[in-house]
Amino acid sequence: MADLGRVCVFCGANVGSRPEYTAASEVLGVALARREVRLVYGGGQVGLMGVVANSVLAVGGEVVGVLPESLATKELAHPTLTEMRVVGSMHERKTLMADLADGFIALPGGYGTLDELCEILTWAQLGFHAKPVGLLNAGGFFDGFLAFLDHAAAEGFVRSAHRDMLLVDAEADRLLDRMATYEAPKVRKWIRRDET
Ligand code: AMP
Repeated sequence: MADLGRVCVFCGANVGSRPEYTAASEVLGVALARREVRLVYGGGQVGLMGVVANSVLAVGGEVVGVLPESLATKELAHPTLTEMRVVGSMHERKTLMADLADGFIALPGGYGTLDELCEILTWAQLGFHAKPVGLLNAGGFFDGFLAFLDHAAAEGFVRSAHRDMLLVDAEADRLLDRMATYEAPKVRKWIRRDET
């Protein structure tokens, strides 16, 4: 069982082209606040980052932003968060977000989101943490990515137990329920050729 006091959300610095992405970010923000789960995120006010932070704040929830100094200019940094942590680099930011959070959720996004999601899955796979990682598949945005992960598993690069670590749902509350009961797999990363 994971005690989800703080959840880190990775998501786009843009809103994307479909309204489903914004709607899913708003629903997630409200669901976090209602459960009294503190949001940890990149600290920006742009894109889905701003949407999810504002929806938590709008219903009285708490938000911690973790922003590298280089991005903390007025137009990017969210001005009204519960707490803003300014760090020296992107690497420090990812480390601090990972340390602060009890679980992680990715919403639609681009390279930054995929980087953060894949890094946190990599650390889980190596046993550096045992925290749940969820994917909110709004509007089927991640279908192609999930098919690629299946391909990587079928080709012997990802264990099926590690493929299955990623909890996928299109509905925020259901995803949070599943994350709360998550148990990390106890298998090693390395796959012998005779196992593929
Ligand atoms: P992307 O998916 O490429 O839009 O990048 C979004 C992710 O990268 C977020 O989860 C942030 O942690 C980080 N990021 C990218 N751009 C910014 C920005 N302008 N302000 C704050 N964080 C950002």
